[in-house]
Amino acid sequence: MEFGGLEKFTLIDYPGKIACVVYTIGCNFRCPYCHNPELVDETVETKIKESEVLDFLDKRKDLLDGVVITGGEPTMHGDDLLCFMAEIKNRGFLVKLDSNGTNPDVLREAIDKKIVDYIAMDIKSPLSKYERTVGRPVDALAIKKSIQIIMFSPVEYEFRTTIVKGMLSPEDIEEIAREIKGAKQYYLQKFVSTKILNPQFKKKVTYSEDELKAIQERISNDVAYCGIR
Ligand code: SF4
Repeated sequence: MEFGGLEKFTLIDYPGKIACVVYTIGCNFRCPYCHNPELVDETVETKIKESEVLDFLDKRKDLLDGVVITGGEPTMHGDDLLCFMAEIKNRGFLVKLDSNGTNPDVLREAIDKKIVDYIAMDIKSPLSKYERTVGRPVDALAIKKSIQIIMFSPVEYEFRTTIVKGMLSPEDIEEIAREIKGAKQYYLQKFVSTKILNPQFKKKVTYSEDELKAIQERISNDVAYCGIR
């Protein structure tokens, strides 16, 4: 595998852990608010070989708890991704995987092989509105399957939604919460308009803190924990 970036140190991307972040190249969605357009359209200039990442990890064994694999959409890399995750686990690191949930079989295999410790899955919109939100054809059943696989797995997880006012209504967010009913953790992520895929979204905003808190209150019975970040 090749990667579009390596962030050597983070305290915020893997909850409670000291980690590094690797960025996979390519994505099957085109979310207008995406912060990594060069990964999505595969125009990233400097690529990092898998062997370089593993060499880096060999030198960080006592300094890092885990590795966050994000993208792009990591699961598009199928078996290559699973082999890479196994290599990381062999070195004794925890693995957090970020995913848009379009490849439930890859998630299932990673869980069954015990090569993932934390999964963060983006929920883009209610299932009925996915294609409008992500700008690509979507297999809604695959998304639904990923949600079920993650929720009924022994792995730590979170679901999260980027909240853009005008793109998702409070009722849409309530519908999402019903579709992940019983989830352990769900985060409402404030949209930030720096460096995004679709320049027209520069003018978009998220909801105010009070509006987000009102939404949080409305969905509090559907999920065990709902956070705003
Ligand atoms: S936000 Fe995630 S799923 Fe959407 S285009 Fe960007 S990398 Fe792909």
